[in-house]
Amino acid sequence: MASTLLRGKTALVTGSTSGIGLGMARALAAEGANIVFNGFGDAAEIAQLQAATAREFGVQTAYHNADMSKAGEIEALFAFAADKFGGIDVLVNNAGIQHVANVEDFPVEKWDSIIAINLTSAFHTSRLALPHMRAQDWGRIINLASAHGLVGSAGKSAYVAAKHGLVGLTKVTALETAQTGVTANAICPGFVLTPLVQKQVDARAVKDGLSNDEAKRALLADKQPSGEFVTPEELGALAVFLCSDAAKQVRGVAWNMDGGWVAQ
Ligand code: NAD
Repeated sequence: MASTLLRGKTALVTGSTSGIGLGMARALAAEGANIVFNGFGDAAEIAQLQAATAREFGVQTAYHNADMSKAGEIEALFAFAADKFGGIDVLVNNAGIQHVANVEDFPVEKWDSIIAINLTSAFHTSRLALPHMRAQDWGRIINLASAHGLVGSAGKSAYVAAKHGLVGLTKVTALETAQTGVTANAICPGFVLTPLVQKQVDARAVKDGLSNDEAKRALLADKQPSGEFVTPEELGALAVFLCSDAAKQVRGVAWNMDGGWVAQ
């Protein structure tokens, strides 16, 4: 029997066709939330994901293919969600991409896409979600930042800038809603073994002549003292806590779940 914390509520998780977003969507669905999926991928696989989530947790699901780098498509996504479910109660800003290069070599179009998808999209979704949340005096905004929202790493200028910006946006959103039933917080994961990080594992394996397992261990050894990846399920559990009544005074935090990364 599914839990009922979020029964009757609707969660939009951007970039939920893969990785952490999918973990978030499943964790919120397990609490009874209807889910609006978003993200890229094979249409048949996404339809299957949607149907499986609906069946497993007894919730309604929908999917919109908005490109989160485009304001007009984000507006269309919100019109779709309002029509289908009446509005978004839980907003998880998760869609994100990565590119690794030094500042002087960083492709300008990659910088623009990372800022658009990892940061500006959260401004658009928040501005579109807040009127409904304020009207009902309840809402949860959860921004997937990163340990890179708190500290930097060489080669990741656009990503680190976007994630620090997202932590800033989270604080301001939390202050503007401080006397309402709407909260805004950021989650800052360390390394999670998703397609986004597997690309970095592959690059490390090639650069240092390592096996896949050795490259994973090397990546963790650089940054993550626990030596273990964080999982989408662990992050989903934190998101569920942030949605609970117990978290109603948790406002504007950037909560790292990172195996000790930023404690160093
Ligand atoms: P992922 O590559 O597995 O998933 C990214 C998701 O975003 C996919 O569903 C993809 O289709 C979607 N997406 C990408 N560009 C999009 C666009 N323009 N419009 C709509 N959807 C788009 O990555 P992930 O590791 O699950 O990352 C999810 C979030 O978590 C990102 O914001 C990332 O920065 C953050 N994060 C990841 C890690 C990690 O170690 N994996 C650590 C800290 C933070």
